Amino acid sequence: MSDVLVLVEHDGTSATRSGAELLTLARSWGDPVAVLVGPADGDLCDQVAGHGARVLVAEPQDPDALLAGPVAALLAALVAAGDVVAVLLPSSVDGTQVAAALGVALDSGVITRAVGVDAALVATISAFAGSYLTTCQVTRGIPVLTVALGASDADPTIRVSAVAPIHVDLPADPATRVRVLSRTPRAVTGRPDLAAASVIVAAGRGLAGDLGPVEDLADALGAAIGGSRAAVDAGWLPHDVQVGQTGKTVAPQLYIAAGISGAIQHVAGMRSARTIIAINSDPGAPIFDIADLGIVGDVFAVLPQAAAAVRAR
Ligand code: FAD
Repeated sequence: MSDVLVLVEHDGTSATRSGAELLTLARSWGDPVAVLVGPADGDLCDQVAGHGARVLVAEPQDPDALLAGPVAALLAALVAAGDVVAVLLPSSVDGTQVAAALGVALDSGVITRAVGVDAALVATISAFAGSYLTTCQVTRGIPVLTVALGASDADPTIRVSAVAPIHVDLPADPATRVRVLSRTPRAVTGRPDLAAASVIVAAGRGLAGDLGPVEDLADALGAAIGGSRAAVDAGWLPHDVQVGQTGKTVAPQLYIAAGISGAIQHVAGMRSARTIIAINSDPGAPIFDIADLGIVGDVFAVLPQAAAAVRAR
């Protein structure tokens, strides 16, 4: 069987949910080969191998090597050296940058933000903020696809231990015009990362700047906090938690939209959530059109009751 290269994002000790989904998806077309860039411990390698993947690890000493250019050059070298049928990458900012550089290096077609890919490598993508679903296929070179979180399920891993990863070098990228000057870890909130969270409580303009009830429910549920652009533009939340067309695309098990009207640009980023609960005082709010459960009410009354009910379980 041919190989399917998968760029797996990780934090050194565990793979992201998208990594698990991509490795599962890769098995539709061949043998998955997981490429881990950056330090990867034994547990991480075992976890990735548990998806039936061969594990390649590139641990650069130089932080510049973590930029898109060298990572794309590594993937291009692996494609050139093997029998590779496709390359899958996460639909993150980094994954998209690497995909673009890889497409150039391979002279291949690139499809970004696929929300589904079938057995013939035909991808479904969402256009005009989710108003249309279109299908497309790479017709030139080795297909390079970035795949949105939630586009496929992640099969559970098989228990494996003490996997010996294959160490590969990241090629130097003489063409790079960018240097990494410093890296600052984000402040630790104690809450899960938005992109990987299985539960998200999202705040909209209806919170009127008082995010306390949203934070309280999120803490009770062990959830991440997201927000609409209105909440972000008002300065109540940082931009990296904005959900929607110009923010993040999320696909949690549960998305609670509090005081969010349901504008098409917001819905584009969260419509793939498995269950959507909306809390809004306006019974005509469009968010109720896509909600599985709608609560017509005041967020300042409903959210504290929900948090108390969760804690009482
Ligand atoms: P509003 O639309 O003002 O809705 C607030 C809601 O809260 C209302 O439905 C109201 O009934 C309800 N409410 C008020 N008080 C209460 C209360 N006490 N209890 C319960 N409910 C209450 N938006 C995004 O979110 N993400 C994006 O990525 C994004 N990208 C965009 C890109 C473009 C090019 C454009 C033009 C717009 C974009 N937007 C985006 C903006 C989007 O169009 C909406 O303006 C935005 O989503 C509205 O945010 P909101 O729902 O919080 O606010």
